[in-house]
Amino acid sequence: MAEETIFSKIIRKEIPSEMLYQDDLVTVFRDINPVAPTHVLIVPNKLIPTVDDIEPEDELTMGRMLVVAKKIAREEGISDDGYRLIINCKEHGNQEVPHIHMHLVGGRPLGFMLKREPT
Ligand code: AMP
Repeated sequence: MAEETIFSKIIRKEIPSEMLYQDDLVTVFRDINPVAPTHVLIVPNKLIPTVDDIEPEDELTMGRMLVVAKKIAREEGISDDGYRLIINCKEHGNQEVPHIHMHLVGGRPLGFMLKREPT
């Protein structure tokens, strides 16, 4: 069994967060350390540690994360200009919290996805 993170407590409302949305499959709350005017996390209610742990029965939940991302982006007023969705995975992906979460980041031009290594 994977160990719970702080995100499970946020989902169960045991600790405070700026929650924007919750349904039977996903929860959305603002990132505590935002990198852009809009920075929210879309999190499955079920504890799935990383993308590498996704099972076939999680397909509906993964789809819901994208559908909800679109809805929240529109509510945040960033849809027309665009935004970025990011899911980090494990060490090389720099994943800090081992409970899958999709970052929805926008509200300013975000530049290239990654810095290129110097050649
Ligand atoms: P990652 O590096 O993809 O695992 O991202 C983890 C994100 O969770 C970071 O952007 C943190 O700022 C954010 N975070 C950590 N703790 C909290 C919290 N209690 N409430 C909201 N966001 C958090």
